[in-house]
Amino acid sequence: MKQLFIMTVTAVMCFSCSNEMKNKSITENFNYKVDSFADLEVLRYQVPEFETLTLEQKKLIYYLSQAALCGRDILYDQNCRYNLTIRRTLEAIYENYNGDKTSDDYKLFEIYLKRVWFSNGIHHHYGEEKFLPGFSQSFFSEALKSVPESALPLAPKQTVDSLLIELIPVMFDPNVLAKKVIQDPNVDVILHSANNYYGSGVTQKEVESFYAAMKNPNDTTPISYGLNSRLVKENNRLVEKVWKVDGLYSPAIEQITYWLSLAEDVAENEMQKQTIALLIDYYKSGDLKQFDEYAVHWVQDMDSRVDFVNGFTETYGDPLGIKASWESIVNFKDTEATQRTVTISDNAQWFEDHSPVDPRFKKEQVKGVSAKVITVAILGGDCYPATPIGINLPNANWIRKDFGSKSVTIQNITAAYDKAAQGNGFNEEFVWSDRERTLMKKYGFVTDNMHTDLHECLGHGSGQLLPGVDPDGLGIYSSVIEEARADLFGLYFIADSKLIELGLLDDPDAYKAEYYKYMMNGLMTQLVRIEPGKSIEEAHMRNRSLIAHWVLEKGKDDRVIEFSKKDGKTYVVINDYNKLRTLIGELLAEIQRIKSEGDFDGAKEIVESYGVKVDTVLHAEVLERYKKLNLTPYKGFVNPVYEPVLDKSGTVVDIRISYTEGYAEQMLRYSKQYAFLPTWNF
Ligand code: ZN
Repeated sequence: MKQLFIMTVTAVMCFSCSNEMKNKSITENFNYKVDSFADLEVLRYQVPEFETLTLEQKKLIYYLSQAALCGRDILYDQNCRYNLTIRRTLEAIYENYNGDKTSDDYKLFEIYLKRVWFSNGIHHHYGEEKFLPGFSQSFFSEALKSVPESALPLAPKQTVDSLLIELIPVMFDPNVLAKKVIQDPNVDVILHSANNYYGSGVTQKEVESFYAAMKNPNDTTPISYGLNSRLVKENNRLVEKVWKVDGLYSPAIEQITYWLSLAEDVAENEMQKQTIALLIDYYKSGDLKQFDEYAVHWVQDMDSRVDFVNGFTETYGDPLGIKASWESIVNFKDTEATQRTVTISDNAQWFEDHSPVDPRFKKEQVKGVSAKVITVAILGGDCYPATPIGINLPNANWIRKDFGSKSVTIQNITAAYDKAAQGNGFNEEFVWSDRERTLMKKYGFVTDNMHTDLHECLGHGSGQLLPGVDPDGLGIYSSVIEEARADLFGLYFIADSKLIELGLLDDPDAYKAEYYKYMMNGLMTQLVRIEPGKSIEEAHMRNRSLIAHWVLEKGKDDRVIEFSKKDGKTYVVINDYNKLRTLIGELLAEIQRIKSEGDFDGAKEIVESYGVKVDTVLHAEVLERYKKLNLTPYKGFVNPVYEPVLDKSGTVVDIRISYTEGYAEQMLRYSKQYAFLPTWNF
């Protein structure tokens, strides 16, 4: 209803809102909420306009969506080598247990399994730490022993007892495989991280020198070294086990390529057909040169309505940012809302020229920033069930420089978040006054999407490295700095009158909704995602904390932004939005300098000073207040179900979409239908 409200009070419309208004295929009484447990809530998203696509486009989406689901088990194994065994063991208990299902232990067991599904493993999807079962070890042993042996994921010659001995410390001992991704600069982040990207005994030093030796500083088109393999030690030598057909994860990758080849046959145009063909070739060869070739084609395929991401893509799961987790998204362009991002990217050069960074760090010519608003049709791998709201790919720096990048805002997901959050009491609890609340109600959704657009289609694409600077030079701080850069770019320009001039916003005060929300989040409310006593680890959270705390400190003397108390509760108050914008510009200049010069010490200093630490008193207060609202800090999604409709001759005449599948139902179905990897894969 928020969108309708904006619609009636404003003259110039934001495309997103008018789009939503006119979009008759959005069901008003759609049930967004599916399930809720631990710190998680599972929602459902709509796929508006799916019915209006052509049969060929629907088939393309269907085949790509199958390919998107076939890689699910790869991610489980990448996250930790015990994940598949644990998930399959828990599922066997869930489906075969005949004991008392009303007992506390059993209820806690269900929650644990739901969490494992949500996180694609035993480590928190966001915090990266291992979460522990609430049920007892003895319950687990008894439940496991009550299950028929044939239902258990036993390795050849393995007994039920040895399975238990193997799994109990992994599940119950907080010190075993405690964290998926370690970011601590004082420890060996490879030896101590629980992910499965490196074989046992491989050290950080070894990884660093192994890949450093491959790099040629004069190569202007370097491949993404190490992106698609596990690095292991064999006979004291380091060897890459490549993820490809006939390599590691082959059974799943063969299925992915099978569905991709069906998709290739119904591609919308020659460019897309070639793109899919190149992806299949790369999956077969594992050759990263071919991956780049594919990416170069993919980024230039701008005309297709349907698009996808499928492959080893993002490197957040590897503390050194080398290895990529498997993910997939299938989507189609929201043509009307895309006008918004087209306007932004058509003006990319203006934004680059007017950004407050040192001219040496600016791109003289911004190339092909293609941006669109998309409707997601399926989420898979590392995008499921927790999903991003914006994506900008490819990641290879030279491809971005020479061919540009594709940037998307996923609007049916942000719409679902927005709808599900309406009336939840959060803003009433944490926002300083009605003035901010009114602004946020009016412009929150619009400016949030706008910030995502600016972050993705301008922020990540802006700026350049000085000649000779190693793109990996910022090491463990590279993700934080990169995200801070993109966020700051978005924050700086969302307050620019250029957006009014371009007709993207219609009120010079609209940006304040985003500023307030961002600062409140960075200084306070994002702490609901942190456990007491812990510091901030995740890159995006660190970047938000960094930005908010930096401007808080630098604006102290002018009281630009401050904490204030009311009825014993702490609030963020912004006194001077103009100065706040100036400070954001100054920080953008500094962060860009750090990135452009590859200043590792500068990155470390600023991240460790502003992005990591948590004020324990404020933290406790925020947690207490949040708890009373009965909300969950993390959300994810179940997918819709697509079903081919066949005529009598067996020809596909339509693809039907439905939204009724439940969370556990979907997870169990996926576990059966897309179980291509052996349990003991190591
Ligand atoms: Zn980003």
